[in-house]
Amino acid sequence: MESALTARDRVGVQDFVLLENYNSEAAFIENLRRRFKENLIYTYIGSVLVSVNPYKELEIYSKQQMERYRGVSFYEISPHIYAVSDNTYRAMRTERKDQCILISGESGAGKTEASKKILLYYAVTCPMNDHMAALGDRLLQSNPVLEAFGNAKTLRNDNSSRFGKYMDVQFDFRGAPVGGHILNYLLEKSRVVHQNHGERNFHIFYQLLEGGDEDLLNTLDLERNPQNYQYLVKGNCPRVSSISDKNNWKVVMKALPVIGFTEEEKLLNIIAGVLHLGNTQFGEGEEGETYITTETQITKLVKLLGVDGSALREALTHKKLTAKGEEMISPLNFEQAISARDALAKAVYGRTFTWLVEKINQSLALKDEIYHSNKGSSVIGLLDIYGFEVLQHNSFEQFCINYCNEKLQQLFIELTLRSEQEEYETEGIAWETVQYFDNKIICDLIEEKHKGIISILDEECLRPGETCDVSFLEKLEDTLGGHPHFVTHKLANGKTRRVMSREEFRLLHYAGEVNYNVNGFLDKNNDLLNRNLKEVMCQSDNQILSRCFRREEVMDQKRPEMAATQFKNSLMKLMEILMSKEPSYVRCIKPNDAKQPGRFDEVLVRHQVKYLGLMENLRVRRAGFAYRRRFEAFLQRYKPLCPETWPNWHGRLVDGVSTLVNHLGYKPEEYKLGRSKIFIRFPKTLFTTEDALEA
Ligand code: ATP
Ligand code: MG
Repeated sequence: MESALTARDRVGVQDFVLLENYNSEAAFIENLRRRFKENLIYTYIGSVLVSVNPYKELEIYSKQQMERYRGVSFYEISPHIYAVSDNTYRAMRTERKDQCILISGESGAGKTEASKKILLYYAVTCPMNDHMAALGDRLLQSNPVLEAFGNAKTLRNDNSSRFGKYMDVQFDFRGAPVGGHILNYLLEKSRVVHQNHGERNFHIFYQLLEGGDEDLLNTLDLERNPQNYQYLVKGNCPRVSSISDKNNWKVVMKALPVIGFTEEEKLLNIIAGVLHLGNTQFGEGEEGETYITTETQITKLVKLLGVDGSALREALTHKKLTAKGEEMISPLNFEQAISARDALAKAVYGRTFTWLVEKINQSLALKDEIYHSNKGSSVIGLLDIYGFEVLQHNSFEQFCINYCNEKLQQLFIELTLRSEQEEYETEGIAWETVQYFDNKIICDLIEEKHKGIISILDEECLRPGETCDVSFLEKLEDTLGGHPHFVTHKLANGKTRRVMSREEFRLLHYAGEVNYNVNGFLDKNNDLLNRNLKEVMCQSDNQILSRCFRREEVMDQKRPEMAATQFKNSLMKLMEILMSKEPSYVRCIKPNDAKQPGRFDEVLVRHQVKYLGLMENLRVRRAGFAYRRRFEAFLQRYKPLCPETWPNWHGRLVDGVSTLVNHLGYKPEEYKLGRSKIFIRFPKTLFTTEDALEA
């Protein structure tokens, strides 16, 4: 039989705190690699789960597996996403405290798959009656719908979530799921009108063209070939081998009624309408005036979007202004007409997505009678949000995404340090400080009132007169030049830094450097839709659209908040929600860029280990003590090693543990006894004890 030690050599340790050489990044990665090669994709750092995307189906997610993890402690069984699901659930039940599971990692690392597995675990293992089973069903079925409208094929992930998602699952006093609620963040709307080479628009467009039957396509005036639609051709990638648009279409159509959806026709009219909008073309007259060259498109739009034709025609080629209390109509030039059309497509799609999330929320909402009898209930929140992103060309979207990751890192620092510190304090054990980088300085650089990047951007958007992306960059330089985390081509001595373009600024994020090109920042932050286009839309007789475009919005002269500020505020709220809960972490890692099984690219993994802060995490966890275990659990596991004393031993737990470790020959420097837990300093001590158990 293979000895315990050689098994450990082969498959590595299941908790990084047991690594002898815990300061070594190489040892860390080697441990990940060994386990990955053995299909052991999960490893802990204390209670943090590290997961490496296997890019293949593993036989570890069955119902039987779920049963194995129910009510079992971390260390008794191999690491698993089910162990995190189960522990979180039990902590919620026993401590009566709201929990959250924060899933992070870069695009393609497996965040969404992880969150789906957690939901499935609850849907299968929690106590349920018929009503609850229906809710569980709705929770699960909301996923394919959200993915159809919010996910797309990108270069990094064939099913990339292009929005952030936080989902609360509410449980009643018996621990049964009774309600749910989703918050969505910053959908990447620009994808509706443009895709990079090799990427696609949102899945739903292709699903409809591929899966919709002839009658449906006829009614929507659509042809089956995606290449006929301007909004679908930019990436030159109509099909993806790993995706069956046809099957997914069926799944979505089946899911819609489960989540209480009855307005399917209106929704599909909008999706088709967006495609037809993309095919609406303009021409330029001799005097520079713009006109529509594709009249038939307008006829289709009138039918599908339920709007007035001449009003739409005029709004696509003219702009309405109010000057000195008087309304004026001014013609748009060719480029302006194209941006007005694209802005409309983005607004229609973006608002429809938000409306869809609201619909799903209505179907997941706690029923009134349960709500009122549900005082003792608790919540588990799941956060599946875009990871740190560095592309070749980084724009406003990456700026927002990376800002979000800075905020999550702040939360992580605060909560891990705090909980670690609290644990040592409550156990009465001296705390040794661990130094690590606090990224508050970067959060401030971005979000501080008046002098942060977002404030400066807003100011530049509102400033009357000639403003442009470059004047925004100049403002940034004036205000932030010299900040240790902000760099542009200008050097302090007045010279220029050649390697940077004059349109870029660089942020030194906690996770690394990113250059942002300011092109488009002002427009994207403004997110303006001409008033006359809004007027057309709010008169639509498609009820989804008339709910998305409110008359009040057109009447209201006050400018709505800018995109970055809206995002900042929604993040602040998210931080509040998360701070009030007990967090668990799942850190996802992508093993290679080729989306292939079995390949472990060390350089790529090292980079992720760095910016996920895993080494720091491990150092904090190991500060002083590698391992800790509650007295009961420790005794339960190791008392067979001392048959002289057990089972006939009675007394205080702490005395029991003391007797046991004396018997095992632990030296005083190897461990400490807290109030309810034993803290073991070196992994070796625990290994020796474990090996004795197996011998
Ligand atoms: P994004 O930020 O782009 O949304 P993500 O982190 O949510 O990325 P996922 O969509 O969860 O990434 O995973 C990408 C792909 O990797 C999945 O479509 C699936 O093919 C594969 N994958 C991820 N996790 C697993 C797993 N546990 N088992 C098998 N395959 C997986
Ligand atoms: Mg995802």
